[in-house]
Amino acid sequence: MAGENVPHVPVLIVGGGPVGLGLAIDLGWRGISCLLVEQGDGSIAHPRANAENARTMEFFRRWGIAAAVREAGTPEDYPHTVLYLTALTGFEIARIERPGHGGRAPSAMSPERPQRCNQLWLDPILRARAEGFPGVKVRLNCRFESFEQNDDGVVATVHNLASGERERIAADYLVACCGGHSSIPKTLGIEMQGNPTLEYNLNIFFRTPALWEQHDKGKAALHFFADAQGIWRTLVQLDGRELWRLTLNGKPYFDSAETLDASGFITGVVGKPVPHEVVSALRWIARDLVADRYRGGRVFLAGDAAHQNTPSGGFGLNTGMGDAADLGWKLAAVIEGWGGSGLLDAYERERRPVAERIVKQAAGNFMRDRRRPSHPKIAEDSAEGVRARRDMGEAIVASQTSVYLTDGTALGYVYDPSPICWDDGTPPQQHSIRDYRPTTRPGARAPHAWLPDGRSTLDLYGSGFVLLRLGDDAPNEAALVSAFARRGVPLAVAAIADLSLRELYERRLVLVRPDGHVAWRGDAMPADPLAIVDCVRGAAPQKT
Ligand SMILES: Cc1cc2nc3c(=O)[nH]c(=O)nc-3n(C[C@H](O)[C@H](O)[C@H](O)COP(=O)(O)OP(=O)(O)OC[C@H]3O[C@@H](n4cnc5c(N)ncnc54)[C@H](O)[C@@H]3O)c2cc1C
Repeated sequence: MAGENVPHVPVLIVGGGPVGLGLAIDLGWRGISCLLVEQGDGSIAHPRANAENARTMEFFRRWGIAAAVREAGTPEDYPHTVLYLTALTGFEIARIERPGHGGRAPSAMSPERPQRCNQLWLDPILRARAEGFPGVKVRLNCRFESFEQNDDGVVATVHNLASGERERIAADYLVACCGGHSSIPKTLGIEMQGNPTLEYNLNIFFRTPALWEQHDKGKAALHFFADAQGIWRTLVQLDGRELWRLTLNGKPYFDSAETLDASGFITGVVGKPVPHEVVSALRWIARDLVADRYRGGRVFLAGDAAHQNTPSGGFGLNTGMGDAADLGWKLAAVIEGWGGSGLLDAYERERRPVAERIVKQAAGNFMRDRRRPSHPKIAEDSAEGVRARRDMGEAIVASQTSVYLTDGTALGYVYDPSPICWDDGTPPQQHSIRDYRPTTRPGARAPHAWLPDGRSTLDLYGSGFVLLRLGDDAPNEAALVSAFARRGVPLAVAAIADLSLRELYERRLVLVRPDGHVAWRGDAMPADPLAIVDCVRGAAPQKT
């Protein structure tokens, strides 16, 4: 392949699902050219992810699509409530409200709120945004087949499914965003660790308008149904109007996708026949897997190609977007020449522990409901039925509230330890799934607060490093500024007088990375500013 005369791109992205498109946008936004190849034609036959957490919405805000996603998703006033029932027209067992989700009401934690916008609408928004950058090319109907790499680059073979032609494309870096069936981990000798088969499932995608008018439980986003066998049916509202997805957990349903009486199961969860139209069915397997490495030479894994979890908690797409936002600025830094040789290794060091934690969390979420004991009289209109529902309801609220209220997981993840964040010796915070506690401990997402001009602090971050000077007595920043200039690393300085922000940010100087995470903080100028710059750009000797 050396010296091969083929078209060249800095980054070749394989897979135009949400994560590949997110990475293409992040690179395009940073002015880095890339080519994305997607084997499909861009159409989506079956709805998968619905839930964008606040962190994903913050990335969308940076990329200029948050408003479009809010607009395309569930209507602002549609509640994100979670219900456990015997049937829509039957008995209620438990109810978990999510008042912090959806809509636009201000939140103290983030300029964005969690939203529900299914991939049916999200993926086209992402693709249109990616295609809007002059340096980003998206090729549909184009299948990646294989690659070779050496120290200087990667050469991939792609197959144009429309013309039948095969083409070789050279790239500095290749990123596998091609989902759970990607061949790339295997080619790199990377193993997926964990459980490849937690549960077999069948989805039934159907249409029926305003189903909430057929019962007395009100509008909700997620409905779980219990019978004497347990909880094995979930109904998800998709558009706040007429599109629904019923999931049946269990091998018999997975195996009988073609012959199954879908309408019978719809009638079962509603509790009476309702007019409906079945649109499509999808078999899928709930997995609990994380790649043992995220990198092989110049090839990286992101999204479902790197980790797969059950949808319980809505983490897959969100974790993948976090991968895209972490890898995007690092690739840009190295391509622009200011990133050090350790910067790209830090991707796995930072993102793999996040995936490991989330995959475990999702598996626990899913299995707690799947293994939840039921009662033969759970759906009976009797004193025993009332008791059974009360007992199950209390157990559900106690164990599953942390499945649906996950601000701590969404916003509170800290890259700790990270080879490119300057450890300041302060003790790590206790991680909470439910509660987000703002911190500027190096590795944490820099907290949100509103600025006097109506922007969020998060709106200051993105294109380069930002040094915040907080309070009137913040030390002179000149030494750090000149150290960044000496290494050619982009840095902006933002002076913030507001004392409440000074308190929130905990130090007088806080250095924020291009992905919005804190890289360093202090109350005084560091003794060796160049050492800080070299650490945060991945050019310092690597800690093991
Ligand atoms: C029922 C269900 C519900 C879910 N709900 C949620 C949720 O609410 N929130 C959430 O965060 N996550 C959810 N998820 C998970 C989420 O859908 C995935 O994590 C997410 O789609 C992963 O995105 P991705 O881009 O990494 O991979 P994918 O979405 O799988 O996209 C990979 C793309 O790569 C393409 N591709 C594959 N091989 C090649 C090749 N050789 N050449 C070219 N292209 C190729 C594929 O065609 C595909 O378009 C859910 C999943 C399921 C099954």
